[in-house]
Amino acid sequence: MINIAIDGPSSSGKSTVAKLLSKKLNILYLDTGAMYRACGLKAKRLGISCLDEKGVASFIGNIDLQVKYENGAQHVYLDGEDVSNEIRKNEVSMLASQISSLSIVREKMLEMQREVASKQPCVLDGRDICMYVLPNAKYKFFMTADAKIRAERRYKELLSKDQNVTFDDLLREINERDYNDSHRAFAPLAIAPDATVIDTTHLTAEQVVDIIVNEVNKGEGK
Ligand code: C5P
Repeated sequence: MINIAIDGPSSSGKSTVAKLLSKKLNILYLDTGAMYRACGLKAKRLGISCLDEKGVASFIGNIDLQVKYENGAQHVYLDGEDVSNEIRKNEVSMLASQISSLSIVREKMLEMQREVASKQPCVLDGRDICMYVLPNAKYKFFMTADAKIRAERRYKELLSKDQNVTFDDLLREINERDYNDSHRAFAPLAIAPDATVIDTTHLTAEQVVDIIVNEVNKGEGK
């Protein structure tokens, strides 16, 4: 079964590439960041700080979080409500980064993600996929890019969604999230020793997809 694991820092192009890959290879795409975003949103709605471990522990075990596929696109449902657009808001990014540092949250998400991946060929993207979620995945990649380029990509994406942000704030937030993600005690963002590193600073999404598809074809003897 083809399982592709992609890790990398914020806005390195993982989700764009993973979406294109899933179409090209006709396999499922699971955006694991969306799940942490939904956890952050749930805490916010309950008025609980994402850093309050006891508070988060009070709801995470029974969180009603579902990932569904509608017309080929991933939708995230929280308590039965489609929150796919709301979790993309910039304020939710930092909440996701904070709540994802809690091991109780990561253990719960790990369980849900493995369940999805065990059932079908898929591509998963996130921060801990290669080493924790799918350590046995046959294909592993680490996508990265210069922080300024990543902030620029995110700036364009948010502007196209009419969100009020400044480039400087985004760059600061990206650096802060990089720091949080790579310094947390549990499952920090790191390059797996058996992952292929792809620096996307000067590559288009299509070029990255070609690199990955070539590697998969080689591995599958095609
Ligand atoms: O990928 P995205 O930016 O949507 O992820 C939001 C946040 O969720 C990240 O900043 C990171 O802290 C967290 N995350 C994680 N592990 C994953 C995916 C996302 O810790 N596998």
